[in-house]
Amino acid sequence: MFKVMVAAHGEEALVFLQDNPDIKLVLTDFYMPVIDGVELTREIRKSQTKNELSIIAMTSSNDEHISAKFLKIGANDFIHKPFTKEEIACRINNSLDSLEYIAKIKDMAHNDFLTGLSNRRSFFEAMEEYIKVAQSNSEAFAVAMIDIDNFKNINDSFGHGIGDFVLVELAKILKNNLKGNDIVARFGGEEFCVVLKNIEQKKALEYFLKLKGTISSMTIRHKDTKAFNITVSMGVAFSDTETLNEILKQADKALYTAKKNGKNRVEVG
Ligand code: GH3
Ligand code: MG
Ligand code: MG
Repeated sequence: MFKVMVAAHGEEALVFLQDNPDIKLVLTDFYMPVIDGVELTREIRKSQTKNELSIIAMTSSNDEHISAKFLKIGANDFIHKPFTKEEIACRINNSLDSLEYIAKIKDMAHNDFLTGLSNRRSFFEAMEEYIKVAQSNSEAFAVAMIDIDNFKNINDSFGHGIGDFVLVELAKILKNNLKGNDIVARFGGEEFCVVLKNIEQKKALEYFLKLKGTISSMTIRHKDTKAFNITVSMGVAFSDTETLNEILKQADKALYTAKKNGKNRVEVG
């Protein structure tokens, strides 16, 4: 079922779009009072791409240049008037299907399938953006590489399915313990990375120590096995290092030290 809003002209359509960011599709005529369909399309494309909001343009004009003009400035599709109900319905459904596929592919490219957390790729994308902000505001941040201790034993003792369940439970804990704009990602197998934004070193370290405690006190309950606990080791590094790669290298080194010193520990690189 569609919810349809009818705008009297392009300007009103822009207001509707601003007030309703979940609008997925715009049907526009070429001839309209105030601003025409091409202008409207141009205006919409300043803030929303073809992959976010679909525009289907239409006109009864015989000017064959209009359809090309519409498509060039970002309409997803074009339909000549008069058209049948069936044709417009098909075009609307095609457009919405495409948007859905693109959203799904984007989600698969950015999020880890098992835990739903950001994957390594989107971690680097997000950090590239954030580091610019942090540098221009002289803002300090902290990074922790987090690795589950003896995870291989968990797989071996309880099975791979329970291992997966542990990863999902840990991801939930990490997500639930972060402030809105901090970053958490699954880096690989049983390794996660957390970035705390705009935080001084002492506070960050306290936070990570507390998080380690929260994780070890969480009981893993699954109907197929007896309850058990997990521990993690963490390697922490701070933003006073030059580049993101350097910071991650330091955090990795600290993680290695934490493992070497007996696991279930937080070390600073
Ligand atoms: P350490 O305490 O030194 O970190 O030892 P560990 O056993 O945790 O680490 P190791 O690197 O020896 O083993 C990691 C295991 O994680 C091996 C791999 O089979 C398992 N693993 C990686 N990805 C997944 C996954 O998605 N699901 C499950 N169930 N296991 C995974
Ligand atoms: Mg491990
Ligand atoms: Mg590991």
